[in-house]
Amino acid sequence: MDKFLRRKDSSSRTDDEEPSTSATQNLKKVVKRKYDEDYIKYGFSWCGDETAPRPQCIICDDQLSNESMVPSKLKRYLYSSHPSYANKEKQYFKRC
Ligand SMILES: [Zn+2]
Repeated sequence: MDKFLRRKDSSSRTDDEEPSTSATQNLKKVVKRKYDEDYIKYGFSWCGDETAPRPQCIICDDQLSNESMVPSKLKRYLYSSHPSYANKEKQYFKRC
């Protein structure tokens, strides 16, 4: 009877240790952003790796990081770096 109780006690202790192993589930998610045809209207083409393309400014050939491959950031770049081009039409950039 004593043995049985002790075994039960030790098994409950290992259950308590389990949560500490959850740290290994902390996997990093790296999201690669893809180029969208629509980004041409912000004056951007792309270059580099197809799986992790980098936006490239058509006006000055400046390359941004893959993390900047979002409309809001491309737009902000265009407005701050090339304000005179901000109101150009999509067709203008395609001609470049
Ligand atoms: Zn530029």
